[in-house]
This record gives sequence, C-alpha cells and structure tokens, in this order.
Amino acid sequence: MTRFIFITGGVVSSLGKGLCSASLGALLQARGYRVRLRKLDPYLNVDPGTMSPYQHGEVYVTDDGAETDLDLGHYERFTGVSSRGSDSVTTGRIYSNVIAKERRGDYLGGTVQVIPHVTDAIKEFITSDITDEDFILCEIGGTVGDIESLPFLEAIRQLGNELGEERTLFMHLTLVPFISAAGELKTKPTQHSVKELLGLGIQPDILMCRIDRPLPQSDRRKIALFCNVREEAVIPAMDVDTIYHVPISYHDEGLDTQVCKHFKLPTDKEPDLTRWFDIVNHVRKPEGEVTIAVVGKYVQLKDAYKSLSEALEHGGIANRVKVKLDWIDSEIFEREDAVSHLEHVDGILVPGGFGERGAQGKIEAAKFARERKVPYFGICFGMQMAVIEAARNIAGIAKASSTEFGPTPDAVVGLMTEWTKGNEVQRRTSETDKGGTMRLGAYPCALKTGSRVAEIYGSPSISERHRHRYEVNINYKKDLEKTGLTFSGMSPDGVLPEIVEYPDHPWFVGVQFHPELKSKPFEPHPLFTSFIAAAVQQSRLV
Ligand code: GLN
Repeated sequence: MTRFIFITGGVVSSLGKGLCSASLGALLQARGYRVRLRKLDPYLNVDPGTMSPYQHGEVYVTDDGAETDLDLGHYERFTGVSSRGSDSVTTGRIYSNVIAKERRGDYLGGTVQVIPHVTDAIKEFITSDITDEDFILCEIGGTVGDIESLPFLEAIRQLGNELGEERTLFMHLTLVPFISAAGELKTKPTQHSVKELLGLGIQPDILMCRIDRPLPQSDRRKIALFCNVREEAVIPAMDVDTIYHVPISYHDEGLDTQVCKHFKLPTDKEPDLTRWFDIVNHVRKPEGEVTIAVVGKYVQLKDAYKSLSEALEHGGIANRVKVKLDWIDSEIFEREDAVSHLEHVDGILVPGGFGERGAQGKIEAAKFARERKVPYFGICFGMQMAVIEAARNIAGIAKASSTEFGPTPDAVVGLMTEWTKGNEVQRRTSETDKGGTMRLGAYPCALKTGSRVAEIYGSPSISERHRHRYEVNINYKKDLEKTGLTFSGMSPDGVLPEIVEYPDHPWFVGVQFHPELKSKPFEPHPLFTSFIAAAVQQSRLV
C-alpha cells in the first residue's frame, strides 16, 4: 500500500522544504521503506528549463531527460533514488495538458474548470507512475497563502479525504523567529500560517518549526494548542552546521517516529543512520583543505550551482578534505589578468553555462590551467571553452568559436542539428522552440582504453546526463588532437565528442555532460573524487 505525505510551507519561502522532504525520505528509507519524492511547482512555466538560474536556481536534469526543479537534486542526493520526469510538475504543465485535452474534445459538452478538471489532473500526477513504493512524498512549492498554489492545496485536500488518514499525512514547515528586541521566540507566524491552511480544509498532522535555537517546551505546547496538533508532532527543525546532519537531527526530534505512528507502523526498531553519521563525521573532521576556483556567470546565487557545489563537497568527503570554493565571475578576466585571481587555487572548475557574456573569461581560465598545470575540470560549457582555447591558442585557429555566440568561420563548437536518442533520430534547427529541445538526459558514452577517464570510471562505457544544444565539431578533431588534446569519450556512434583530456597535464578533463547531477554524499562521483585528489596533490606543490 502506497502512502502519501504532503509537505507544504508557510510564513516565508526559503525555509528548506526541499531538504526537509529529502531528509524525511532518507529517514523512512533508513527504516527499510521504499520512497519516491515529487515536487509540484505553482509557477506557469511548463518546466524551469527556460528560466534563468537567477530566478529559480539550477535546472536539475533527470535520466529520462526532464528539466526539473533543483529540489529533485536534494531528493536524489539524500535517497539515491533516481528521479524521473514524472516526479516534477508545474501549474504550466498541468494547464497545458488540460487545455490540450479540451482541444482534443475530451471534455466535449462540459465547462472546463479548476475544480474538478485541474485538480483531477493534479491528483492524477500525484498518484501515477507508482510501482512498489511505500511512500510518495509530495512537496508543494511556494508558500501557503499564494494565489498560485491554491489548486495544488485543494487537490491534496481532496486526496486526503479520498484516501483517508491511513494513507495520507500533511506536514507543514513554518518559521519560529527570534525577535531580538523582545528577546523572545514568536509562535504567531506559525499560528497564522496553520490558520491559512485550515481555511483551505487542511489540518496539518506534523509541524516542522524552523528555528535558530532550541524550542522551549512551553512554546511547543503553545503551538500544539493553537494549531490543533499533538505536542510530540511539533518538531523543532534547528539550523545545523552541515545539511547532511539534517536527517539525524530530525530523527532525534522524533520526526520519523511521528510519521510511523500516524500510519500505525511499528516504531520499536531504530532506523539505520550509520551512513549519515559517517558523512557528518567526514565533513566535520577534514584532514586538510583545498581551494577550488569556480569560474562562472551566476556566482552571486549559489543555488545556480547547487549540484555542483554538493558534488565538490562529496569529492572532499571522499578525500577527507574540506573543499573551499572561490566563486569567481568570469567577466573579471576580461578586465583583469587571471593570474592574481587564480594563482593561489588548487583547482579550477568551469561549470555549465549559456551565452557569450563571460565566455572569454572562461577561456582565459582554461588557458591559465593548461599553461600552469593546475587541475582543470570543464563541465559542458566549461569543456567547450577549453576546446576553443586549444583551437585558438595552440592549433592557431584564430577565429575558433561557438555558433552559440553568432556566426563564425570556424565553428569548433556548433549547433547540434541531428543526433540519435535510443532508436530515434532527433532533429533541430536554429528556429526550433527553446523549451525542452536540448539534448537532454542520460546518454551512453564510450571511453578510450588507457585514457585517464577510463581509469577513473574503471569501466569502458558510462552513462551521464546531458543538457546542451551545442557540441564540439568532430571535423576539427584532427587539428585539436595535434594540440595534445585527446578525445577520450565519444558517443557510441563515434559522432559526438563527450570527453576531452590532456594526457600530459596533471589533471585536465572536459566533459560535455553534467556529472554533478549524479553525485551523492555516500557515493561521490568518481570524476569529482579524482579532481579533488588532484587538487590535494596540487596543494602540496603550492
Ligand atoms: N550553452 C552550451 C550548450 O548549449 C552549454 C550548455 C551547458 O553548459 N549546460 O551547448
């Protein structure tokens, strides 16, 4: 029997609902249950793929090629369960499906309305594509009280009614702020937010209270009384020093026990949290430190590179070092010399990116890393820029560029107009719609025997997730190989370059895919483990 846990948020946004959901998923898993996590986002974009990272943070890509909210990354990192396209939906997608049905005539004769048609579509999303999961955790984006999230809240209210409390649980995340002028914690925002939920017909079963200090028993009692929740089900969610401590701290506060009690599941056995204790131990007691420069465009907003910073931390965990990140806006190299900014770092990473702004700075960063023999990791755009750097500065192709930046006589990186996905040929032109049309999701890649990456992966073929529209042009392969660059990973049909490396450099790898999306704290991605190991070596030289 699959049970549904609905997670809503109140008072303010950015309380960490995604982490909270992911941590509960991890706790239920540690009790031996099978879980899947889902995200329902109230905005009107069909998916976040066309949004700037400044709007909503990183776009997380699933194996099956969906562009989703970054919370799906938390879900995967905490549970190890691969997310699917069917785990992420937005108001935009729900409406476009409902409207497409209306045009087809599926509702012929009927007036199409939010209730029941839109709410039915939401319920169908929540309850579909389930196999043997014991729990489906559904996080509702936004904050209770937003106009946009009303249909989602109405849909989960209906589900609660239809499936009954044996199969549904409502969990609400709120904030208990400390008002320094009064020297007091305040429970009123929580009371108001629960009132708002009650007005929509939802009585929360569990309250998670974000708080920066211990919650006194008297406040806990007060919240319970005013919000009509049992006292034990008012769970303080205190700030912690590492996100990987969240499952442990929620367990200590009784979260998983309360969830099991609600569903009348046994609570006598403790969950196995060994994996989380190990990770926290590694994070808290590093044996050294390395500094990695991340040279990108959206460096002011850390959420824009969420999976990346996590994956780097995982690389640190694997090497027992703390990874300090130096976020550098690549545009700075267009005004200033790279040397002063990069001289002290142990590794340079150029992440994924789009558009010409800041590209030259990334090329400079790749050049610095190549010439100074500093470990370099180029991801997607970071690989493309490293290739352009080699073409311009070693192969002598002065005008080498990417068609992403406009017409160029030497399109060393060019628009992909045709590629195969499974048995299907995908075709694109520069006129194609922008949404959902990149080369997305998991694709296989064959590794060259004897290459650094073959050794790192320990396997001749791999599968990694992609999200790109441009690709290194195979016609320049020979010229580029003369620069010393090896094409060490190719699509199995040999058409698309997937990985390049310099064998005579301590560590210089560019990958067309996004390995950061698959890294987990308890299973660090081999490329990140190896990159950080190289940075550790480098730090001994500096
Ligand atoms: N803009 C580049 C492309 O579309 C790289 C994309 C990325 O880094 N994710 O190919």
